[in-house]
Amino acid sequence: MRDDRSLGVYLHVPFCGQRCAYCDFAIVTGQDRRAPAFADALVAELGAFAARFGVRPADTVYFGGGTPSRVPPEVIERAVAAVREAFALWPGGEISLESNPEDVNAESVAAWRAAGVNRLTIGIQSLTGEGLAALGRPGSVEDSLRAVAAARTGGIPSLGIDLIFGWPGQDLPGWAGELDRAIGLGPDHVSIYALETTSRTPLVRAIERGELPRPDPDRAAEMYEAAVEALAAAGLPRYEISNFARPGHESRHNLRYWRDLPYAGFGPSAASYVDGTRWTNPRRFSDYEAAAWAGFPAVEAEPWDPDRRAGEALVFGLRTEAGVDLAPLAARYGEAALAGREAALERAVRSGLAQRDGSRVRLTGTGFLIADELFVDLL
Ligand code: SF4
Repeated sequence: MRDDRSLGVYLHVPFCGQRCAYCDFAIVTGQDRRAPAFADALVAELGAFAARFGVRPADTVYFGGGTPSRVPPEVIERAVAAVREAFALWPGGEISLESNPEDVNAESVAAWRAAGVNRLTIGIQSLTGEGLAALGRPGSVEDSLRAVAAARTGGIPSLGIDLIFGWPGQDLPGWAGELDRAIGLGPDHVSIYALETTSRTPLVRAIERGELPRPDPDRAAEMYEAAVEALAAAGLPRYEISNFARPGHESRHNLRYWRDLPYAGFGPSAASYVDGTRWTNPRRFSDYEAAAWAGFPAVEAEPWDPDRRAGEALVFGLRTEAGVDLAPLAARYGEAALAGREAALERAVRSGLAQRDGSRVRLTGTGFLIADELFVDLL
């Protein structure tokens, strides 16, 4: 029987070789030597969590980053062991690890499998040399092909790949070709992300200086539609706006975020949502380490703001193909928080962007295409 106090566990591993041109995550570069000390801090933080909240059940563990595949596999092994100490991990619980292609080989896959990893995602991002160069990614297309083969040969039960579309210079036929090649790799899960141009990343600054062409939003929408069609035809239907999976291979951990279910985050910048309270760890690596050793590392818990929470839960739920049930949100955050959003929801239904079935609302195909605009109204 599932315990409704069960949590998803997120571990943020901040190490990267270099900062990719489009990245604004909390990472450190050139600091790999600090991985063992980082593992010590994680173990301390996990222990402090269990001391404060008791040993809670957990059904998913997710190593994100940063580049979790970059740290020695012993660090992953230690972290999984510490999670098993601090939480009652469900038998068959999902243990996911994000990786970069150049770190995936027979030895690393065997070590991750031995640590309990049963789901691997590979940040391929582009299956063309031009794409990798435009995105400032290290490695090559061949590295990606080798990584997928090593993951499969090594017996990874659920394999995902990540791709980015809309990079400067990419056109629709090129993207269609990349999708064909990606599907040909036989992934169980595919994540596709439009190039993000709102943060001040090196790539965005180059676009602003006129060194690279500005991505065209209409073309990005065409690319997105092409991907939805091609992936569905290949047996990978959309289950979330950016995520596509063979049935049974959806990310159970990420579904927690979209379904407004609780999670506990560890490592720099990791967020937690436990017993209705949310908090975020210090973003800077050294601040995080100091805080982890001082005890419980979280900065101040967010003040209770049911209106903001309801808006976020609504928008997160609408990202999924299944949509969102408004009844539990009203029970959790109050009728008033949802009543204020009724008019926007009605407008979305009237304009064919959303459908309503009782208390459940979901986006239509057109709604998914302009979801960001709709979400601004609902937040
Ligand atoms: S590997 Fe991922 S986290 Fe690291 S710099 Fe590149 S995009 Fe950012």
